[in-house]
Amino acid sequence: MKSTATARSLDGLVAAGALAPERAAALGRVAERYAIAVTPHLLDRLDGGDPAGPLGRQYLPSEQELEIRPEELADPIGDDAHSPVKGIVHRYPDRVLLKALHACPVYCRFCFRREMVGPGGDALDPAELAAALDYIRAREEVWEVILTGGDPLMLAPRRLAGIVAGLDAVPHVGVVRLHSRVPVADPGRIDDAVVAALKASDTAVWLAVHCNHPDELTAEARSALARIADAGIPLVSQTVLLRGVNDDAAVLEALFRALVRARVKPYYLHHGDLAPGTAHFRTDPARGRELVRSLRGRVSGLCQPTYVLDIPGGHGKAPIGPDYLEGDAEAGYVVEDYRGNRHAYPPKPPGGA
Ligand SMILES: *Cc1c(COP(=O)(O)O)cnc(C)c1O
Ligand code: SF4
Repeated sequence: MKSTATARSLDGLVAAGALAPERAAALGRVAERYAIAVTPHLLDRLDGGDPAGPLGRQYLPSEQELEIRPEELADPIGDDAHSPVKGIVHRYPDRVLLKALHACPVYCRFCFRREMVGPGGDALDPAELAAALDYIRAREEVWEVILTGGDPLMLAPRRLAGIVAGLDAVPHVGVVRLHSRVPVADPGRIDDAVVAALKASDTAVWLAVHCNHPDELTAEARSALARIADAGIPLVSQTVLLRGVNDDAAVLEALFRALVRARVKPYYLHHGDLAPGTAHFRTDPARGRELVRSLRGRVSGLCQPTYVLDIPGGHGKAPIGPDYLEGDAEAGYVVEDYRGNRHAYPPKPPGGA
């Protein structure tokens, strides 16, 4: 059976054959707490409804989401502490997030903004959007604007084009970056109108696609990415390290190869944030480092993302990948190769700079 509509409830998931009716009965409280959406594209590929499969685990609600741990936070990366006007998060001097809407094509069960996104959350109205653009216009240090949300590619192409044009007209904004799940969750949405909306005359527009498993890179998703790349928009990826989905060297290898093959440069591998009810998805940073270390020898440099942790409390991202160099300028260094063998490297010559 081919799905035609996005499932937005437990009943919708059951009707689409993605959820067993008896499971739906047990998940009422989860559905009350967190939004559900699975696009037709993904409903047809949900591993036959296997809730433990790499897609089912990402998109189908689970009772484990009700297990909230004391270290988990409603605002895990501290957006609120850095929001000077509605829709703007300004944490680093040279770049801001612009969150124009809260809607996403799908609601990922591990979402770091899960308390903020969803159908209840509103989009910026025209006056609020104008105020957010005024904030950017008034700050010459803002070099990059990151459209996120929610998902900016859920905006109607006309509204998206208006935002891109508004930013394009700001002389100090050099880069507009969009973070989106649409190319993998709803690839049919990437049509000529959307691609045209991303055209700017003076600003570089980049797209970061959120993708966590090679099974998400379907033929349709790959052709959506090709349409974007063919329009001259550079593509990077962000992946969340998720237990039971991609915490495996072979899966990560296949994912990063498939992304590079689709002209997408792996950018970040995110350590899972402390979002409420997501403990079942988190790994330990030591395990993450081990996986990243094993990739070093398995895949080309093009396929290597930076492993990052968003420090709780709003302190920004820190790279937490493995170190390959030990020592200092006095004693000299030991550097490790991709096979794990260690080699001496000399300290600086005496008197040198
Ligand atoms: C992640 C993030 C950015 C972008 O960080 P990069 O390292 O440039 O990708 C910018 N602002 C905020 C608030 C963020 O959370
Ligand atoms: S698409 Fe991004 S913002 Fe939306 S639910 Fe998924 S992780 Fe959260």
